[in-house]
Amino acid sequence: MTKILIAEDNAVNRELLRELLEMRGYTVVEACDGDEALRMIEQTQPDLLLLDIGMPVLDGFAVVRKIRENPHLASLPVVAVTAYAMQGDRERILNSNFDGYLSKPVNSRSLAEELDRLLIKRVNQDLSQSQASGSRGKAQAAREG
Ligand code: MN
Repeated sequence: MTKILIAEDNAVNRELLRELLEMRGYTVVEACDGDEALRMIEQTQPDLLLLDIGMPVLDGFAVVRKIRENPHLASLPVVAVTAYAMQGDRERILNSNFDGYLSKPVNSRSLAEELDRLLIKRVNQDLSQSQASGSRGKAQAAREG
């Protein structure tokens, strides 16, 4: 079962993301601030983190920096979720150790595309490490094509 951690301080946004994820069959765990997000990563070992940028205690930039500094967590896919609409924020985010970016309000289709892209990449990394080959690579090429 694929587990997603939602780190988001706004309860309404958390609930919306939870519903979208559970509809797609993901297991969901939640954190309300940056510090709790780091603790929940250790405790629940999610497959992917949806990380709000604007949060109390530690913001999303600080959280992703700490994740990348930790060798055990460095490969965790992290998707920034932000309402920032200003020019340049997307570039700043994608240059800050995030693997992807979703703007609020998050729509179901963009969320699905980001998760498919990042979780398939992860499966392929695991497979290549275990010397498996063949059909999955083709499936990914078809998707990306
Ligand atoms: Mn926020």
